[in-house]
Amino acid sequence: MSNRSERDGVTLTGTILRTLRDHGTLSRVELTQHTGLSAATITRKIAVLLADGTVEEREVVNGGALGRPAIGVALTRSSNRVIGVQIGVGTVTIAVVDVLGGTEHVRTIPYDAASTADDVISLVVETVRPLADPSVVGVGVAVPGPVDAAGRRMLMPINLAWRDVPIADDLEAALGIPVVAEHNVRSMALAEARFGEGRARRSVGFIYAGAGIGAGVVVDGAPLSVGVHGAIELGHLRVEAEGAPCVCGGRGCLETIASADALRRRLDGLGIAHREDAHPLVTLCRAEDASARREASVVLSHLATGVSTVTNLLNPELLMLGGGLADLPDAARDELIARARNATFPLIRDSIDIRPSSLGPTAGVIGAACAALDRLLYA
Ligand SMILES: [Zn+2]
Repeated sequence: MSNRSERDGVTLTGTILRTLRDHGTLSRVELTQHTGLSAATITRKIAVLLADGTVEEREVVNGGALGRPAIGVALTRSSNRVIGVQIGVGTVTIAVVDVLGGTEHVRTIPYDAASTADDVISLVVETVRPLADPSVVGVGVAVPGPVDAAGRRMLMPINLAWRDVPIADDLEAALGIPVVAEHNVRSMALAEARFGEGRARRSVGFIYAGAGIGAGVVVDGAPLSVGVHGAIELGHLRVEAEGAPCVCGGRGCLETIASADALRRRLDGLGIAHREDAHPLVTLCRAEDASARREASVVLSHLATGVSTVTNLLNPELLMLGGGLADLPDAARDELIARARNATFPLIRDSIDIRPSSLGPTAGVIGAACAALDRLLYA
C-alpha cells in the first residue's frame, strides 16, 4: 500500500474502496462517476485489487445494455477482516468482523474490574491470537475512555484504575498485526453510521449506559473528536449542584446517580436483588412497588437531562441509545425519550430521531473494526 498515490489526503485506492463500501456493487463506469477518477485509473487500480482479493467481480442483474449482464465490482466479504475488541469495565467482547460489518465468533468474557491493564491486555491477546487467520488484517480495540489522536493510547478510563496505557503498541507487540484504538461509544456511533440505521444520516449520536455513561457522535462518516483528547464526557455532566462526590473529583455528576454502581446502591436501599443478566437501571425500572417507581422516575429524569444535553449541544440527526438504555422496558424508555424531547429546543425536537441501537451488543466490536479499517484500508 506504500505506493498508493494520494488525493486530498486519501489515496486513490482508499477512495475506490470507500466508494464500494458506501454504495455496494458498482460497475467500473459507475466507479468513475462516483469517484471522479479516470476510466484508465479505475481499470488499473481494480486490476490490482482483484489480484490481491480485496474486491471481486459480480454480475449486476439488469445492469447491462441490450440484455447483456453487466459486471460489477464489490468488496470481498472474506478479505480484510478485522478482530473487534470492546473493553468495558469488567467485560471484554471480541468478534471477527468482516468488511461489510458481519460478525463471527462473538464472545464476551468477564474480568475482575480491579485487574491491571496488563492482565486485561494478556486476556485480549490470548483470545485474539487463535482468531487471527491470514484474512485478518488488524485489530480494532474500543476502550472505555478517551484515546489519543493517533489511536494508540488509552488516556483515562475513569472507572478503571488505568492511566495512559499504550494499548495499541502493547497489543501489536504481542500479536504482530496492526492495532488501532478508539473510544468505545464513538465506535458504537461509527458502527451505526456504517452498518446500522444511521447509514443514510449525515450525523449519528450514541449514548451508552454500562458501568458509566458515555456519548459519541459521527459526522459525515467521521468520528467527532473535539478538543485536545477528543473527549465528550456525558457521565460527568453536573446534574445536581450539591450532589454526591464523583470518582472524577467533581460533584453531582450524572454518573453519581446513574452509573451501574450508583444504581446498585439504590437497589440495595430498596431491598431489590441485583440480576446478573440485566443492567441495574433495567432492574430498577422493572420493579413494581411505589417507592421503586418513584426512584426510577428520578433516575430517568436525570438521564433525560443527559440525553437532552446531547440533543441541544451536538444535535445529531439520529440519536441511538445503547447498553442499559436499549434494554429498558417500553414504558420507561418512552418516559426517558419524552422527557428528553421536552427539554430539547423546538427546532431540534421536531427533526431529531431518538431510538434504541439497531446493532445491539455488537455495536462496539463492529465500530472498533470500522475504526481500524478507516486507518488500515480506507486511508
Ligand atoms: Zn464525575
